[in-house]
Amino acid sequence: MSIEASSTFTVMEANTLPEIFQGQKGPPQGGCYLYGRHFNPTVYNLAQQLACIEGSESAYCTASGMAAISSTLLQLLNPGDEVIASHTIYGGTYALLHDYFPLKNNINTHFIDIHQPALIEQKITEKTKVIYVESISNPTLRVADIKSLASIAKKHQLTLVVDNTFAPLIIEPIALGADIVIHSLTKFINGASDTVAGVVCASTDFVSQLMDLHTGSLMLLGPTMDPEVAFRISARLSHLPLRIQAHSQRALYIAQQLQALQLPVTYPGLPDHPDHRRLKAIGNVDEYGFGGLLTLDLGSEKKANTLMNILQNEQHFGFMAVSLGFSDTLMSCSGSSTSSEMTEEDKQLANISPGLVRFSVGYTGSLAQRWNQLKAALAACQII
Ligand code: PLP
Repeated sequence: MSIEASSTFTVMEANTLPEIFQGQKGPPQGGCYLYGRHFNPTVYNLAQQLACIEGSESAYCTASGMAAISSTLLQLLNPGDEVIASHTIYGGTYALLHDYFPLKNNINTHFIDIHQPALIEQKITEKTKVIYVESISNPTLRVADIKSLASIAKKHQLTLVVDNTFAPLIIEPIALGADIVIHSLTKFINGASDTVAGVVCASTDFVSQLMDLHTGSLMLLGPTMDPEVAFRISARLSHLPLRIQAHSQRALYIAQQLQALQLPVTYPGLPDHPDHRRLKAIGNVDEYGFGGLLTLDLGSEKKANTLMNILQNEQHFGFMAVSLGFSDTLMSCSGSSTSSEMTEEDKQLANISPGLVRFSVGYTGSLAQRWNQLKAALAACQII
């Protein structure tokens, strides 16, 4: 793949420009490009690769995961509309739905436990337009029942949007009935913690809507991807399957060891996880495992911080940092970081306790070395 850096594109005949402006010509209709904030060939190429991974008809890439989420929702929703969202989602998405949209757009959201389908049906009104969930939730690691959510969405003519950031390759939401899949490419898909990016995987029609010159939220708000970023991410797609396998294998081992010590670990690959059987049934777990994230509840933020300090500064087990999907282990106390946007009440409802530490398990170092480091830190904190 080459980088097409041009911000503007020459047309060979004068009447092509009006045709592009009227939406009659563009990359989906045979490859005419207009301007870098509209489609770009390198970004379009990456988008088509990601569409293949997700099994969607089309896709387009954005400047961040939040750009993918906000432009998708702004495209689907008008003032007065309502969203039904899972009560356990990334803090930034929660803030967008809980604070920003009601204030700026008069779009309101019901946050509910999506594992109770009856609750969803109860909240649906004629104002409801979207059901929004994460395939594996941040940070509580619950697995959405995408098939039954899709059938509720279909019955009520709603759009089911699934953020699949935690489970690329493992879960294929489109095949399970989702309408739109979003990723923060910043995480596993890029995998190097050096790029912020996102993607919307959807129908060709929806991608055209996002790019409409009069009403497209991507085209008009402008958070499309830079071609150099697209080039870098595309180069990393070839080893995404290997990386996901390595993350999953390490996370499963560490989760099993923590469980053997009777510590409060949550990992969808453990048979006692509430959604273990669901993920086994819907996910490509034989090939890619149960994902790279696990949580450990230390009971208090103080204890969580003590453990993380030792893990980073004495044992060199990983880094205290938000984000996930990096080659090294990243760890953060969710309640005071990536879920801190949530009200205390909503955190409690979602089971995000103050001492919950989220680990994005990396694959550097030997597994034995990493487990010894973690064990030593747990011992130093008198947890074991
Ligand atoms: N979705 C999930 C599940 C996330 O964890 C995050 C960020 O942490 C985002 C979306 C937002 O992505 P970005 O930081 O690329 O905007």
